[in-house]
Amino acid sequence: MNSSSRGTAATSPGTKKVRSTMSIKQNLHTIQSSLPEGVRLVAVSKTKSVEEILEAYQAGQRDFGENKIQEMHGKWEALPKDIQWHMIGHVQRNKVKYMAPYVALVHGVDSLKLLREIDKRAGQNGRVISCLLQVHIAQEESKFGFDATELEAMIQSEEFGKLTHVKIAGFMGMATFTENQEQVRAEFRSLKALFNQWQARLPDLQILSMGMSGDYKIAVAEGSTMVRIGSSIFGARDNH
Ligand SMILES: *Cc1c(COP(=O)(O)O)cnc(C)c1O
Repeated sequence: MNSSSRGTAATSPGTKKVRSTMSIKQNLHTIQSSLPEGVRLVAVSKTKSVEEILEAYQAGQRDFGENKIQEMHGKWEALPKDIQWHMIGHVQRNKVKYMAPYVALVHGVDSLKLLREIDKRAGQNGRVISCLLQVHIAQEESKFGFDATELEAMIQSEEFGKLTHVKIAGFMGMATFTENQEQVRAEFRSLKALFNQWQARLPDLQILSMGMSGDYKIAVAEGSTMVRIGSSIFGARDNH
């Protein structure tokens, strides 16, 4: 290529691609440098393309979060195998088998039935799958998860004690979608308190997954050890 065609390329629409690469990388860098040591960043890549994920990968990101098993599976097949895939969405039991061979962490475990299915499929794959129990902290009715009483009942149950291929690595929670920052803070604080309480009884409890693009700074201030951030890295999603 001679110098004049390089000059043309630099001003062609192709430069748009370069700008977007820079921006995923820069967004990652900005967020990473704002996180205290010990807080892990999961880049939420749902609805985003393999190319966009690769841009983040090339910037050093290895943890990615998806909310649909089928979508995650396609991306797992297409992308480098050292990526850690996080299932952050509501899990359908009949699809657990598809992710059991490779999923790194399941964030949204909200029933003993689901945990049993993960245990079974993990066993079939010769794995122990790390799971987070989803705790309901928001005021909204629609959010999944255990409340403190349900959590107690499940953890005390005989069946729970028999599971051998799941590791309860922590808790996950989502705050109410509201402008009221003090409410969000109080919800995260309540989850952190519950986490501390259970840490004395569940030795593997280490991860507290809370905080998204809009509220991760509050979550980190309240003790989050893992944030799930999508739109602040990849830009707004067109569909959900
Ligand atoms: C989509 C999603 C996120 C990321 O949301 P952003 O606002 O884009 O950062 C985090 N957690 C869960 C469970 C999600 O479904």
